[in-house]
Amino acid sequence: ASVPVLLDLRNDFPILQHPVKGRRLVYLDNGATTQKPAAVIEAESRYYERSNANIHRGVHWLSQHSTDLYEQGRESVRRLLNAARSEEIVFTRGTTEGINLVAHSWGRGAVGPGDEIVLTGMEHHSNIVPWQMLCEQVGASIKVVPVTDSGEIRLEDYRALLGPRTRLVGIAHVSNALGTINPVQEMTRLAHEAGAKVLVDGAQAVAHKVVDVQALDCDFYVFSGHKLYGPTGIGALYARYGILKDMPPWQGGGDMIHTVSFERSTYADVPQRFEAGTPNIAGVVGLDAAIRYVRGVGLDAIAAHEHALLEHATEQLLALPGVRLIGTAGQKAGIASFVVDGIHPHDLGTILDTEGVAIRAGHHCAMPLMARFGIPGTARASFAAYNTPDDVAALISALRKAQKLFGTGS
Ligand code: PMP
Repeated sequence: ASVPVLLDLRNDFPILQHPVKGRRLVYLDNGATTQKPAAVIEAESRYYERSNANIHRGVHWLSQHSTDLYEQGRESVRRLLNAARSEEIVFTRGTTEGINLVAHSWGRGAVGPGDEIVLTGMEHHSNIVPWQMLCEQVGASIKVVPVTDSGEIRLEDYRALLGPRTRLVGIAHVSNALGTINPVQEMTRLAHEAGAKVLVDGAQAVAHKVVDVQALDCDFYVFSGHKLYGPTGIGALYARYGILKDMPPWQGGGDMIHTVSFERSTYADVPQRFEAGTPNIAGVVGLDAAIRYVRGVGLDAIAAHEHALLEHATEQLLALPGVRLIGTAGQKAGIASFVVDGIHPHDLGTILDTEGVAIRAGHHCAMPLMARFGIPGTARASFAAYNTPDDVAALISALRKAQKLFGTGS
């Protein structure tokens, strides 16, 4: 079966022009991190060549210029998420740091003994462990929305867990292990009816679909730049202004204060209150370039392209004997997670690598979800805008070789 090629972006990505082990690189590990277009690499290097200075402090021109670029990056993130105001955007190291920031700063004030945090059974460890740490400290507990055989959650199960003690609901917008798109808007509405706040983990969503935090009506939204064609070490937290403005600082230091004396310090307004120390300025510049790149291609076009690839890959995978997909939800972003009879996912990953096909194998930092399916892990092919039907063909042919090697398949 042929699949229409909607996008052709491979030439924008320098790394894809370089063979790995002498072969054309078939990069299907985009859920872990995406490759970077030349526009991002060049923006970061141009920043160091022409604009580098510390921000917010200097009176000199370069410092002002660097500050402008940094704040332009904030505006770019605001537009990406359609936040109402740029003060609602806090730069972080990534999704993990964003969730920890909320758990520390908001959580320690808002969650107390006997309170409850509701999480779905498909959360990444980074949307589980910070809440566990909080619960241990304050005497709260976690409730888990069960995952169905198709890798979804049922709204009635979710609704049954919401109650007067629910303070927060934590939801992956898109599951990194299965690709399931969760009904975040409806879940947020129900959480708010119960008086709870909502944090959405957008790590696997922002590069694959249009996100609008005002339409979702969530209270917190976090993502990582490196999964959005941007640099590592930079990400953002969106927090509703009415909540953020009353949140105490998490990390203390330079740039987050108003005044300091040895008796007492007062803190800066948001978002600076949450950006202690010299931030990742070059990272913000790179992230800004990545957002421009993605907006230039168009998130709707990317979503359609990846959807077509996923459908094509799913069809081809299911045609192979002994291949079972984990997570068959109706609403999925570009991730195919599967197990192959008689071959451990790690062995599969290693054999595919010798064929130049990069996938991820393992528990995908979602051990509770793997336990739910009774498997140690899966092989995961995750798509990005630059993947092509040739990449799918290479995956399928490498899988056939692996099955031959193991004497399985046909
Ligand atoms: N949540 C999800 C759904 C993820 O896929 C990831 C990255 N695999 C994270 C959180 C953590 O992101 P980071 O490591 O960039 O902080």
